[in-house]
Amino acid sequence: MSSNNATNKKFKPATIYIHAGMEPDPSTGSVMVPIYQTSTFVQESPGNHKGYEYARSQNPTRFALEEAFAKIENGNHALAFSSGVAATDAVIKLLQPGDEVIAANDMYGGTYRLFTKVFEKFGIIFTFIDTTNADNVAKAISAKTKLVWVETPTNPLMNITDIAAIAAITKANNCLLCVDNTFASPYLQNPLNLGADIVMHSATKYLSGHSDVIQGCLVMNDKHLRDDLYFIQKSCGAVPGPLDCFLVLRGIKTLHLRMQRHCENGEKIAHWLRKHPKVKQVYWPGFEDNKNYSIAKSQMNGFGGMISFELVNESVEEAKRVLSSTHLFSLAESLGGVESLINHPASMTHASIPREERIKNGLSDGLIRLSVGIEDADDLINDLDKAIG
Ligand SMILES: *Cc1c(COP(=O)(O)O)cnc(C)c1O
Repeated sequence: MSSNNATNKKFKPATIYIHAGMEPDPSTGSVMVPIYQTSTFVQESPGNHKGYEYARSQNPTRFALEEAFAKIENGNHALAFSSGVAATDAVIKLLQPGDEVIAANDMYGGTYRLFTKVFEKFGIIFTFIDTTNADNVAKAISAKTKLVWVETPTNPLMNITDIAAIAAITKANNCLLCVDNTFASPYLQNPLNLGADIVMHSATKYLSGHSDVIQGCLVMNDKHLRDDLYFIQKSCGAVPGPLDCFLVLRGIKTLHLRMQRHCENGEKIAHWLRKHPKVKQVYWPGFEDNKNYSIAKSQMNGFGGMISFELVNESVEEAKRVLSSTHLFSLAESLGGVESLINHPASMTHASIPREERIKNGLSDGLIRLSVGIEDADDLINDLDKAIG
């Protein structure tokens, strides 16, 4: 049975992740998709080619990965980009000056920077609101709103937005909904199934899973939307190289196994932190007393390994002391790799958001964010315990 037959039917995620995009190479039968490290393709006569002309527009390794991205998000089409922000950039380039984007007020700092520092000066209007209450979106939306941009769970406060509720509002108002699904990964959440028009991922994170590549993707069902975004992808040129595509294809094969362990470890560590006398507050979407827990439970298949927390001693110095005292948790930006990372949003990932904006949205100077990896949970807890002291 060819892998193409295997993925055309309705299979469970584990099967899809192993087979998606893995068509044996037609010229050699190579089971793994070859890394087509070439910039151009020979033509038999002018305009007579095998569907490949120039690698910014077409590359077989990238096409295999794009097929895999589509399958794992249960979408019809996908496009790969040289980074997550390049994928976001392409979505905003669908718009015209005067168009408005309604975006979550608690999201990835680089997305906020791209919107406010790059696109505002081209006349795109960005309105930031609390999307965890869908009524806020219904109130803010107007004829000039062309796109709603949400992230759920949010980075770093793990707030949950009801994707289906927002999708109902965007559909009724003839505007697009794009969901940044990086934190959940396709294993835990599939926004297209809930009515979103576009799913965006920083493939740098869980999809690659090994902290060795920068990449982004967009997944969608609508063919016209795909064609418009493909036009932007090839015209603006933020395409990933074939080696990076190969690495992400390889990462996807273990996504289900990694996510299961991220979830198990995340749950243990979140509950352990919550009981720690020196910890004031823990942010993790799986706590039953969270505001939007029932929504998280219904739209996610698990709660992942991203956790943020504040210490009882709220000083930045104390947070920095803990951040500098772990050994298994490496102090670094990024997330979603097999190894655990610890991060200080105020000075690292979210430093591009003005302080008063950060504080207003509940992101304190003492907040610590963990990307819990797939190591042994007890070893990770011991490491945190020694660091917190
Ligand atoms: C990392 C990240 C991005 C940006 O992706 P890059 O691959 O770093 O360009 C966007 N959104 C979220 C939630 C992220 O974590």
